Amino acid sequence: MNRLYQRLHLQPNAKPSEIRQAFLTAARQLHPDKQPGNENANEEFRMLKEAYDHLMATKKTNLTGIIVEPIPLTEWNKLELNDSEIVYQTRCRCGGQLSVSQDQLVSNNDGLVPCDNCSLYVQIV
Ligand SMILES: [Zn+2]
Repeated sequence: MNRLYQRLHLQPNAKPSEIRQAFLTAARQLHPDKQPGNENANEEFRMLKEAYDHLMATKKTNLTGIIVEPIPLTEWNKLELNDSEIVYQTRCRCGGQLSVSQDQLVSNNDGLVPCDNCSLYVQIV
């Protein structure tokens, strides 16, 4: 378990928002498109994503009484960062910023996005 945190350079008490931020930062560096010539790039990226998914799943099951607010995807701002990276953003009811990448949406079957600011989860519906 701790090795997963190390892979994302996180402390074991990291919040879901910190895990997500660490993943996004690492994903930008380790994405196979950013590492032409590195034969291990796909494997490194897969391991990173696996660590992220696992940590987020653990955080969710550890949360007691999480509050989930459904927000339709049509109410999220769609930002196209480049050809391959699309990010959706919206505001939490606390005023905090919520963002999720297209890739995360695809891999995140329950569509839950943690708020950076409070303990609320927003569910994309
Ligand atoms: Zn919030």
